[in-house]
Parts: sequence; structure tokens; C-alpha cells
Amino acid sequence: MVPTSIDAERLWQRLMALAEIGATPGGGVDRQALCLAETAAWQLLIDWAQGAGAEAFADRAGNLFLRLSGESSGAPAVLIGSHIDTQPQGGRFDGAYGVIAALEVLTTLAQSEERFGRDLIVVAWMNEEGSRFAPGMMGSEVFCGVRSLEQVRAVRDIEGASVAQALDAQLARFPELAVVEPGFVPLAYIEAHIEQGPILEREARMIGVVSGIQGKRTYRVAIEGAAGHAGTQPMAERQDALIAFSGLARLLDDEIGHHDDVVKFTIGRIEAWPNAPSVVAERVVFSIDLRHPRQQTLDMLGARLEAICASFSTPCRVINEPLVVAPGNEFDRHLQRVIASCAEQRGYPARSMLSAAGHDARHLASICPAAMIFIPCRDGASHVEHEWAEPEHVAAGANVLLDTVSALLVQREEDVADGD
Ligand SMILES: [Zn+2]
Repeated sequence: MVPTSIDAERLWQRLMALAEIGATPGGGVDRQALCLAETAAWQLLIDWAQGAGAEAFADRAGNLFLRLSGESSGAPAVLIGSHIDTQPQGGRFDGAYGVIAALEVLTTLAQSEERFGRDLIVVAWMNEEGSRFAPGMMGSEVFCGVRSLEQVRAVRDIEGASVAQALDAQLARFPELAVVEPGFVPLAYIEAHIEQGPILEREARMIGVVSGIQGKRTYRVAIEGAAGHAGTQPMAERQDALIAFSGLARLLDDEIGHHDDVVKFTIGRIEAWPNAPSVVAERVVFSIDLRHPRQQTLDMLGARLEAICASFSTPCRVINEPLVVAPGNEFDRHLQRVIASCAEQRGYPARSMLSAAGHDARHLASICPAAMIFIPCRDGASHVEHEWAEPEHVAAGANVLLDTVSALLVQREEDVADGD
């Protein structure tokens, strides 16, 4: 018999126990990647997993794995987890929730009589937050082949210590732990996480079925005009950078910002020179933040945006400088359906939603079917010490993870791949 529910009390106690490691006076957590606090957190996870009959191993990228072996050693594993590193003044739930919920699912299944054909592996990815060593998501990037281990090892913190030094020291503190080369292809990857936004709480829903992580492009656009006297310069002779801006902003919002109902187009900042009431503006610099869940659409809109800026006809010159290109992704639709139906069967109000923030699951989605389960967090607050999730929601997300994993463990490989 597949067990009906996780142990909500054990799950909560473990989440709070993990939050003690690196606890800050303000009630938050400071447990940055590859610091000593993470060593202590690894030890706690390893002890809990071994207590449940699972075995621990790591990879050379500093990812920690906890494996509950199935009957067939060759079958691709179901991989679940998140990260246990935090921001310097982070909360108790971001990342930690997904790892502890995954461990709770593993423990619940290990205690059942049921034996499964394939392995269930819990993962704690190395350096998701990127606060000490930037940028983040190093562990999942190396695991998925996005960045090489050598590139990641060369990154240094502000004191000059390299990832290589910190990573080797971390692994040396676990001489018993098997360390493998990074990367294997799982049957599927599921990550539970707090929403880090206000939507679920506002709508009184317990579960978010994450449809994807939206990609992002940002730009800095400069418009070069010419200054002139507001009282004397004839209108026909002006090169007014602010008037050019208003025309370009209107055009971009029409063409890009109204492409469909999921695109996000924002001009969040504008600066004008000399910014004086009686002088024609000679220069305007503004920002563009463009996001879309579909990578192809984002790329197309980015190209169109650049073309509009290049050909904008005005007496002023428009210079568009691309800043950030962060890819987005859509999660596996079959997995989304499984998660939604698990939530429905438990009577948890759920909705489909996009993740506005980035997660390790973004990279996993490039190597296997991947999905995420969100739970509400108070006021949508995250990366703060008072970050909070209700015990009821913490348990609900873990139960949906349990049901989803139970379905995947008995599923044939060809039935997991996205059918549409
Ligand atoms: Zn996180």
C-alpha cells in the first residue's frame, strides 16, 4: 500500500530544526553556500536520510543526494528537492522547504511496505542563491551541462576565496561520502517551493501548479537629442529627447507590451538631461524589462524591440544596449496534470501559475520532464527574515509531492514524457 499521507508534525519539526543552523537574531537564516553552516546542514540531512534507510552521496559540483533504492538499479530515478543555501538575511522556507518536503516523502515511502521499481533521490543543489558566489544555481547548472565545473570552480567571493577552495573543503569534511561525477538523467524532477509572491495567499489557494518560469531580457536605451531654449527655439528645429521618448515608449508598449496576455513589458526608470523646465531635453536614458514564459516568443519580441529602436524615425538618435538575457522555460504538461489532479483529489484549492522568480528546476527542465509545486507564503515575502509559510500549507505541498512521486515511481518511462 502506498502511504496515504506524510507526517506533518515530523516535517514541520525538521524544517524548524534545519532553520536553527545559521539562525539569525531576527528569526531568519544565514546559511550561504559552502559555508560551515551548510556542512552542519548536510550532516543533519544525511543523518535523517540514513535513519530512513537511504544512502547519501555527493557529486563534484557540491550537490548532495539522498537515495532510496528501488528494485531495478538501471531504471532512471525520480529526482525531487531544492536547495538549502540562503541569502545572508534569508528565511526558513526558501529552498529548505523543497528539500525537507522531499526528504519527508522519501521517509514516508521508506517506512511503507511498498517497494518500487526505480530509485527515489532527494537533492540539495549547491549555491542556488548566488549570494556568496555569484551568480547562483551553480550546482544545477553543472549537473545539467549549462556551465562547466571548471567555470564554476573559478568563481571567487569578495574575500578572494574560490568556489574550488570552498567546495574541496566542504567535500573533505565528509570523507565517508561517495563523490561522483556530476550529471545523470532522471525520469523526472519535481521541486516544491514557497511561491515568493502574493497570488496563492490572496486567492486562498493551497497549491500552485507551476506552468513555467518566465524568461527575461533587459535593456538600457539612450535617446540623444539637442538642448535648446524653450522660449526661442522653433518647434520644427528641435531634437527633443523627451518627446522622442514619449513616441518610442508608446510604440514599444503597443507593439511589444500588448503582444499577448502573458507578456510583461516595463519601462521602470527614466532619466532626462538637463531635466530643467525651460530647456529642451538633450538626452533621455530609460530601462526596459521584458519577460515572457515562452522562450521563442521572448526571443522574437526581443528582436522586434531591437528593430523598433533601430528604425525609430525621429530627429534624435536611439542607442539600445541589451543588458540581461535570462532564458525562460515551460514545465512538462503531463507532470502539471498529475500535480493538479493530486491536489484536486486531496481537496486542496489549486491554480496554475507562472513562476516570476528563477529556480533550479529551470535547468532540470532542459534534461528531463520537470515541474514545480508552490505553496503560499505570508504577504508573498521572501529573501527576508520574517518569511513564513503556514504548517497546513507546508503539509499540503508535501502531500501533493508524495502523491505525484508515488504516481511516477510506478509509471513506465514512455508514459512520463510530455505527450503534447
Ligand atoms: Zn529558492
